[in-house]
Amino acid sequence: MRRHRNAKIVATLGPASSERATIAALFAAGVDVFRLNFSHGSHEDHRRRLQLIREIEAETGRPIGVLLDLQGPKLRIATFVAGPVRLEEGTPFRLDLDAATPGTSARVALPHPEIFAALQPGACLLLDDGRIRLKVLRCGPDFADTVVEVGGLLSERKGVNVPDVVLPVSAMTAKDRRDLAFGLELGVDWVALSFVQRPEDIREVRAIAGSRAAIVAKLEKPAAIHLLAEIVAEADAVMVARGDLGVELPAEQVPALQKRIVRACRRAGKPVIVATQMLESMVTSPVPTRAEASDVATAIYDGADAVMLSAESASGAWPVEAVRTMDLIIGRTEHDPYYRDAIAASHSAPRAEFSDAIGYAMRHVAGLLDAAATVAYTTSGHSALRMARERPGLPILGMTPSRAIARRLALAWGVHPVLCHEVLDAGEVGALACRTVSEEGFGRSGQTIVISAGMPFGTPGTTNLLQLAQIA
Ligand code: PGA
Ligand code: MN
Repeated sequence: MRRHRNAKIVATLGPASSERATIAALFAAGVDVFRLNFSHGSHEDHRRRLQLIREIEAETGRPIGVLLDLQGPKLRIATFVAGPVRLEEGTPFRLDLDAATPGTSARVALPHPEIFAALQPGACLLLDDGRIRLKVLRCGPDFADTVVEVGGLLSERKGVNVPDVVLPVSAMTAKDRRDLAFGLELGVDWVALSFVQRPEDIREVRAIAGSRAAIVAKLEKPAAIHLLAEIVAEADAVMVARGDLGVELPAEQVPALQKRIVRACRRAGKPVIVATQMLESMVTSPVPTRAEASDVATAIYDGADAVMLSAESASGAWPVEAVRTMDLIIGRTEHDPYYRDAIAASHSAPRAEFSDAIGYAMRHVAGLLDAAATVAYTTSGHSALRMARERPGLPILGMTPSRAIARRLALAWGVHPVLCHEVLDAGEVGALACRTVSEEGFGRSGQTIVISAGMPFGTPGTTNLLQLAQIA
């Protein structure tokens, strides 16, 4: 089973997509990586979802990536007595630490002592992705009396952003540490860290995760944008987290930042995910708006590795249709003759080192010989990612003896991961690559393939071999 596109689809699982049949349908419709959003749901919910994903993986024989998204120091209000409340402009509204008492239209708990410690009168609080705006009149260590500046309907556990205040919070909360330990135990492939502010935040997660999972830095704070190059260098992948980014910064800055982040990641060869509201109207509608179709296509023309669905697949009425729509938009866009021009025009030169030289040579040799596919035999995934960085016009098979690496590569642009047995010599890798390419439906007898590998075999980080082979 193969996908006929380069860019990947990440879809969030939630209440609308926790049945086995739905997850299977999402995968069949095009999901490459499932996101478990630990801002919602219990450990038991996530365990069940992961188990179903692994069952579907075993049935289809296709490596599937699983991304654990840590909530991070995201501030959220608590619950209400009886469903959502309406906040009217000009009326008072109190935030406090009393999480045991459900909220009303006069108050709600905001169970984050650190926020009250840092708040000042005059500060602005943005609720529910900035839809509701409160201004602090008075505050103390356990409360803030505010006035509603922009009102609206507020439901439980909505997010709170405080753009005017620097919160002295670490990258991981106590909940994140518990969630991370749980997720690593479950065997997730990627861990996404929210509200990254500095490269040290990523090192903190890596110190715990080690080699058990790769790390996605979610860029959603102005501070992270100031340290973009350093954060991209430290992370294994990056998410343009437009939801919170567009609350912390004015929305009109998001498009340029998206392009800047995607470019920085492509230069570094790190997978980059464009996330949030890509097909937002499909939460309630079976078809996207024209603007949404254009938004997905823009990310594809920019050369992003992946586009992501949040509420559309987690809690919307049309989860499978949303994935199908994304798949169609990606396919259409990648078939536009201008697409290759756009990708080539935004390509930056490779580094002067072995794996990049091999990737560069593979792309050119494959073009010259009109090859059917390229194959990167990789133990760490590195050479497949450097090959993806080249954004070649033909498929990349990431052939690896590591199940974990195969799953991680599901996120990378153009890479079709395949799990294989461990190869011991160059003759064997050629034969195995030919067999794999034809079995996976990427080439047939008589066609040429281009293979990269490293000698001595079994030693990661030694990409030094470029082999040409003809499928028998
Ligand atoms: P979230 O992250 O969905 O976890 O908030 C993505 C974003 O902020 O865009
Ligand atoms: Mn976010």
